[in-house]
Amino acid sequence: MNQATIIDDAMLRAYLSDSLPAEESARVEKALRDSSELRARLEDVRANRGDGQLHTLGAIWRRGRLTCPSRQQLGSYLLDVLDPDYTAYVKFHIEVVECPFCHANLTDLEARTTPAAAAAQTRQNRILRSSQHLLGDEGRV
Ligand SMILES: [Zn+2]
Repeated sequence: MNQATIIDDAMLRAYLSDSLPAEESARVEKALRDSSELRARLEDVRANRGDGQLHTLGAIWRRGRLTCPSRQQLGSYLLDVLDPDYTAYVKFHIEVVECPFCHANLTDLEARTTPAAAAAQTRQNRILRSSQHLLGDEGRV
């Protein structure tokens, strides 16, 4: 029996409303990755819900420790230096799970990794370094 067949609609609904225990939720998420049929069913279940309370930020945050990539991993994802399997996972997490927490993190990282942002950072460090000797010991309280 594959995982898609043992996850029923009730379980998908529970997944969408974040009422599953973290381990179960991670298992559903993994099954979703492996099965396009299950993803289609998730969309059906999602479409049939009326409360619009899907994946609240708080719930994502709670579950995040288990399924969210770390900020460092998201950075590597942007630079495309993760191994292909993990890249696929992060892509899934961002594009299919649509994790708002990781979306926010990625947007922030993107802003920091543009050449202009990197140049600004370097300039700031240089100014900081060059003014440090001026302060010397007198700069300390
Ligand atoms: Zn996430």
